[in-house]
Amino acid sequence: MGYNALLERMGEVNDLLCSVSMLSWDARVMMPPGGADTRARQMATLKVFARNHLVSDETRRLLDAAEAETASLPDDSVERTICAQVREAIDYHLRIPAELVQRRAEMGSKGQHIWAKARAESDFAAFAPVLKATLELNREMAECIGYERHPYDALMYRFEPGESVASLQPLFAALREGILPLLRAIEEKPHPRVDFLERPYPTDKQLAFALDMARALGYDTHRGRLDLTVHPFEISFTRNDVRITTRVNGEWMPKGLFGTLHEAGHAMYEQYCDPAYTRTPLATDLVGLYAVGGVSFGAHESQSRLFENQVGRSREFWELNYGALHDTFPDELAGIDVETFWRAINRVRPGLIRVESDELTYDFHIMLRVDLEAALIDGSLKVADLPEAWNAKMKEYLGLDVPNDRLGVLQDVHWSSGQVGTFCNYTIGNVMAGQLFAEAKTDPDVSRGLAEANYVPLREWMTEHVHRHGRRYTREQLLERATGRGLDPAPYVDYLTTKYSAIYDL
Ligand code: ZN
Repeated sequence: MGYNALLERMGEVNDLLCSVSMLSWDARVMMPPGGADTRARQMATLKVFARNHLVSDETRRLLDAAEAETASLPDDSVERTICAQVREAIDYHLRIPAELVQRRAEMGSKGQHIWAKARAESDFAAFAPVLKATLELNREMAECIGYERHPYDALMYRFEPGESVASLQPLFAALREGILPLLRAIEEKPHPRVDFLERPYPTDKQLAFALDMARALGYDTHRGRLDLTVHPFEISFTRNDVRITTRVNGEWMPKGLFGTLHEAGHAMYEQYCDPAYTRTPLATDLVGLYAVGGVSFGAHESQSRLFENQVGRSREFWELNYGALHDTFPDELAGIDVETFWRAINRVRPGLIRVESDELTYDFHIMLRVDLEAALIDGSLKVADLPEAWNAKMKEYLGLDVPNDRLGVLQDVHWSSGQVGTFCNYTIGNVMAGQLFAEAKTDPDVSRGLAEANYVPLREWMTEHVHRHGRRYTREQLLERATGRGLDPAPYVDYLTTKYSAIYDL
């Protein structure tokens, strides 16, 4: 009785959060700009209702009863895992005063406005007070959440549970050691030609081709749809309705195609979650209050990056699919063979902007941000000194001079919306993608499928080892079950080394 009643209660929390997501999708895809203010209120109200429903006396009474009822089951049973997750989420929310949550929400909406103006004018001083307030608020949050070694650890918990400043150091060191020599060697080499990707390609044809590829990889459009937005994203309202968006422009054709594959990778994580987990805490982020099934932001990012990069930018993929692309764009790609195309989509060009960076330089943008955020949170770096510290790291990692703060420290939206601690998930996603893909390819069905443009076995392998589990296991448990070990950068570094050695004749 207690356990089933608790599940029904959690189903209601999931319903509320799916409704928030629906309003969010509408706001980003369909809503006229005039709706922004009232929509923000509607979403905030529903989210507060979801939080209050979760931490209410009634839920806690049901949880006590459910824990008693399931006490004799094994610790790792689904029932006890769910009870433990609900308990953990309630404890988390009760540690953070409602007044602090409210202040953060208010700062988020005001901060974004100030940031947008400061960025347009490249005026860091105008944004500095917002950043100071954001950091103070996040320090307060960290004290409420609690941590053992570093306040930043508490802030990462919401996005990447179990990760810490200390655990990231050896990971980052291994990546620097593995990737920097490749970057230095590539600097000496001639670059592949890319001019044919910088032409305008008809938008409708781009969208149709991208969606065909996403479907081939396993994205189920009976339970999904693709729309155009300025900022691409994936969002779900249970596994049965998982939508993606992309952006196409006339300056760089790969943006729309690979953006679609990226979001389709996220979407498949949700679509192939075990149906039995629908509306349960195993398909709900009760700590972050989002209706998503992935176990961490990094795990989610592993699926998007796996399909976008490890599969979608591979030579093998294009040897099998370039004919279809060429048939779709015979004029734009006239005279371009598959080898030329494959090299072009993998061009390495150190740049100042994170979201435009290639596979080889991306992780340096992340390391830079994580190191600076951690130093800002513990106070060892002052806000006034941030632009200088940013520019110095950019020089150290990518050899670039930052001409202004618009192209440097002001480029990301994250801090203006009050978020600190999210960046590491992108690199963790890359590393996990390398590890999972290397393991998947040891399965003969998967490797045979990849060689025949049959992506069903790969998708099924990911479903078996990742998707279906939702939030059933921690990220490390998931990796151990799938690959026999926890997070390991070696396969990812091997992948980059092999790929870029071939492209640049290293
Ligand atoms: Zn992503």
